[in-house]
Amino acid sequence: LLVLSGVNKHFGSLHVLRDIDLTVNRGEVVVVIGPSGSGKSTLCRTINRLETIDSGTITIDGEPIPAEGRALARLRADVGMVFQSFNLFAHKTVLENVTLGQVKAKKVKPAQARLTAAELLERVGVADQAQKYPAQLSGGQQQRVAIARALAMKPKALLFDEPTSALDPEMINEVLDVMVGLARDGMTMVVVTHEMGFARRAAQRVVFMDAGRIVEETDPETFFTAPSSERARDFLSKIL
Ligand code: ATP
Ligand code: MG
Repeated sequence: LLVLSGVNKHFGSLHVLRDIDLTVNRGEVVVVIGPSGSGKSTLCRTINRLETIDSGTITIDGEPIPAEGRALARLRADVGMVFQSFNLFAHKTVLENVTLGQVKAKKVKPAQARLTAAELLERVGVADQAQKYPAQLSGGQQQRVAIARALAMKPKALLFDEPTSALDPEMINEVLDVMVGLARDGMTMVVVTHEMGFARRAAQRVVFMDAGRIVEETDPETFFTAPSSERARDFLSKIL
């Protein structure tokens, strides 16, 4: 579904992505893990073309990522993104947050968009919060609304960039449970997270990045119990 091949990215003289090759198959969940500054967020952002790349190719369903215009808007609908900081529209209600994109980008009729939104809010467990504003919700509830909003676009794949790292511990699991549910339902997901429990429950593969390179790519069990690289062993000894 998603293929990155020989991808390089610089910020000025800083080489942040180095010869990245990564394939994500349909229905697969890939967890990306690695030290701060290793390029995990940049990797996610290039897939959605929030950042351009200097060389290499990224294709989705065999199609290269469009540079601009309507095709790019369609790509952003096809590949949803959930951020660490929720990024909900503060001056819109929860329901409006989940209907807006459907009406604007997908030309869904407002009544249908509200029905879909209600279903999705139910699915992520915040149906009773529909008329509130984001600031009136807990962090865990806001993040679940952000997931519902991404799902409302009927994406082919979802990218998550540290979706639980801004949350209080007691709220982490309510978000991870929703994500595990999506994984079980066959959603294709790329998830930047250090939550080992999530990786073990939901991921087929763990990709370990360091200094802009993919250093190791293996199943979660092997990664967490017997990583082959020194860098991964060193990193795990710090986070576990
Ligand atoms: P973290 O775990 O802290 O989120 P990360 O693995 O997501 O780290 P990135 O955010 O992808 O790392 O950043 C990779 C490198 O690129 C870092 O050195 C960062 O300072 C740099 N960088 C990221 N965004 C920009 C930018 N817009 N301009 C310049 N440098 C940037
Ligand atoms: Mg990051």
